[in-house]
Amino acid sequence: DQAQPKKPSWIRVKAPTSDGYRKTRDIMKENRLVTVCEEAGCPNVGECWSQGHATMMIMGEICTRGCTFCNVATGKPQNLDAFEPGRVAHAVSKLGLAHVVVTSVDRDDLEDGGAEHFAQTIRAIRHRSPATTIEVLTPDFLKCAPSALEKVVEARPDVFNHNLETVPGLYHEVRPGARYFHSLRLLQRVKELDPTMFTKSGIMVGLGEERQQVHQVMDDMRSADIDFLTIGQYLQPTPKHHRVAAFITPEEFAGYEKSAWNKGFLMVSATPLTRSSYHAGSDFARLRAA
Ligand code: SF4
Ligand code: SF4
Repeated sequence: DQAQPKKPSWIRVKAPTSDGYRKTRDIMKENRLVTVCEEAGCPNVGECWSQGHATMMIMGEICTRGCTFCNVATGKPQNLDAFEPGRVAHAVSKLGLAHVVVTSVDRDDLEDGGAEHFAQTIRAIRHRSPATTIEVLTPDFLKCAPSALEKVVEARPDVFNHNLETVPGLYHEVRPGARYFHSLRLLQRVKELDPTMFTKSGIMVGLGEERQQVHQVMDDMRSADIDFLTIGQYLQPTPKHHRVAAFITPEEFAGYEKSAWNKGFLMVSATPLTRSSYHAGSDFARLRAA
């Protein structure tokens, strides 16, 4: 095994301690909700939760895929909980969220990949908190009929997000159950189904990709009409996960950001601590106000 590069000073994680953090944690616990913030050990949890921002993960804590960067357990998933959409909607209204991000584990065991459960969750949030903007971060529905994706789009989330995660050349070692062009096409299809819906995707860097490959991914995304882009530094959750090949400097991130704006994305976040849902609400609100 090659040695890991040393964690640089710009990757700093503050210990979560504020009252806001505790309030968010309590509301999640009371409603028996799983968050990706905790599951992924996200470095921004102190900042996000102190402001009442959290990304909820529906359909259980066990995933049918085993991406090598991801801390979520792989195995036989739990049964769907028909009351979960209602509990998510309750938590969103209690937190008073202006924008919510809902994601899930991958459910290759379900015929529709969990599309109907996503749609129900969107509708439940909309019903209870009509002013809240809703962003879904979905699986790829790789083994499902086209109607699965259509179900989610018909429920009309404001932002449809699906992460490409890495460059195509690294899929076999990073995202073995997924297919790059399928994921790209999924997002393009969302735009075809509803041209008014914003689409969003993101990748992690520091997994061993070349700079030119990152530029190629951005071009591919724009040719699929993807509106928003996130790029963040990959951090290894445990020693068993994919190694960090490099810590990308803040200057290199700034270079990616500049190129992304030039390529025509409507919203770009590219910093070491950018995560798919980092500042998602404030960035979206800014865009809508512009
Ligand atoms: Fe949660 Fe996203 Fe914030 Fe991380 S960046 S703490 S995953 S809302
Ligand atoms: Fe993690 Fe998503 Fe991959 Fe499942 S599909 S292992 S939740 S990144």
